[in-house]
Amino acid sequence: MIAEQLFPSKLITQDPTHGFPLFGPNRILGVSIAILQRFSKDIAEIVDKPTRIQLARRLGRDLGATQASTLSSIHSFSDAREQMRAGSALRTLTGFAHEHLDEVEVRDDGSLVRFTGRWTDAYESTIFIETMKEADNRPARRPVCLSLAAMLSGYASAVFGEPIAVKETTCQAMGAPFCIFEGRPASAWPLQEESLKPSSQRSSRPKNVIPLKTPLKTPELPTTAPARSPAYLAALKRVDKVAPTDATVLISGESGCGKEVVARRIHTLSRRSAEPFLAINCAALPPDLLESELFGHMRGAFTGAERNKKGLLVQAGSGTIFLDEIGDMPLSIQGKLLRAIQQREVRPVGGLEDIPVKARILAATNRPLEEMAAEGRFRQDLYYRLAVFPVHLPPLRERHEDILPIADTILKRLSPEHPGFAPATQKIFMENRWPGNVRELENWVEHGLILAEEAPIEPEHLPHLPKKPVPPKTEDLASDLPTLEELTQRYTNRILKHTKGNRKEAAQILGIGTATLWRHIKKQET
Ligand SMILES: [Zn+2]
Repeated sequence: MIAEQLFPSKLITQDPTHGFPLFGPNRILGVSIAILQRFSKDIAEIVDKPTRIQLARRLGRDLGATQASTLSSIHSFSDAREQMRAGSALRTLTGFAHEHLDEVEVRDDGSLVRFTGRWTDAYESTIFIETMKEADNRPARRPVCLSLAAMLSGYASAVFGEPIAVKETTCQAMGAPFCIFEGRPASAWPLQEESLKPSSQRSSRPKNVIPLKTPLKTPELPTTAPARSPAYLAALKRVDKVAPTDATVLISGESGCGKEVVARRIHTLSRRSAEPFLAINCAALPPDLLESELFGHMRGAFTGAERNKKGLLVQAGSGTIFLDEIGDMPLSIQGKLLRAIQQREVRPVGGLEDIPVKARILAATNRPLEEMAAEGRFRQDLYYRLAVFPVHLPPLRERHEDILPIADTILKRLSPEHPGFAPATQKIFMENRWPGNVRELENWVEHGLILAEEAPIEPEHLPHLPKKPVPPKTEDLASDLPTLEELTQRYTNRILKHTKGNRKEAAQILGIGTATLWRHIKKQET
């Protein structure tokens, strides 16, 4: 039998005496989501949270185990994979969630490696979202589908004959388009959290329930605060669409507008969310170092290479690697990266053998890559490989309707009780060009808060950053008549001091590439 052939008419029968619905030999009840919603609200008022969590898990686990035993008494399955898919179909047919299994990895001996999948409109997230609409309208901070995860855990444990832990990594109640889950043998789960393990005490009464030590720790779904502007919402929609795929994504936008946040969002919403997310800024490292960071090196490959080192592309495993400021990557390294994307393998510096690459590659840039590619300043073939799915993030000044809500969110995060911004300050916020985007806005709010303390933030509390660095007085430089080279060095140092050592920013102010700046700095050091 294949899962798709599970029809309600075969699964749910009628008891001959009264016409009650039966699933296998068991009488089942029809309960509406609205009733469950009110019931869960009532429960929340009288039962403390740890006990509630424990009860939700037990209910789910028992349901899952029953689903498995009843299903296998009605049908015979050819293998565990098919049995898992039948469980998904059953949970969809019985209204718990639209469950979709993405992959089920099983060893030759029939034991489970892992499975991953998605729930859409899961009943617990639906209840949460409905309740949220009535109340404060804040998305959940962590996944809410506890019973459902336990149900799948109970089901899978019965299928594989060993305790299988299921972790929900992302939830629709957190604002995601669907929930993402992953299951592994409890013994093999890398994060040995007590709360994830299926409990072996199945029949203890709520009175004896041991409260969970720690709540489930799962990442929040990254967003750049409130978004209402159509351009930004459109970008987010694209992001959420591409996230579950394996496509390479090129994120473009000015610095400070949240490119890394978006990259993390893609990772969190992908099947790789339980694997590492590694980020590297290609503009922050000199070429040699960038090469060995990305691709690794062998012992003795160069002076100082005392041992073999794995590159980030390999370290990321089956996770995600985020290459920020890819436009600053030297051409020599671009060729190696292209090979990593095309052949899915890399050769460490000084190495003779290739190592496979499994990570998904995301890249970001604030430079006009397409133009650079046309002019030969960036490899065209690499550009086309990276730009399979481009996402452009609009700068803050083009997101007018988002400026004040974002400022408010930042302020509330720093100081929840703060009275807010004076009207004159709001006007400045609306009129400013925000070259540093959300990051700059963050700095302003923080600065304002420090000076205003508990009072509303007035314009005089805002930082008055010079738009451009004040040029050093010419007489200072000219009095001792330095050579042009000395002058360059001194000016470079002064700008570096101004940017507090931030080389990227310094290079931007100086109007030179980061590589040129590196040469200046290196010259001084030798
Ligand atoms: Zn969920």
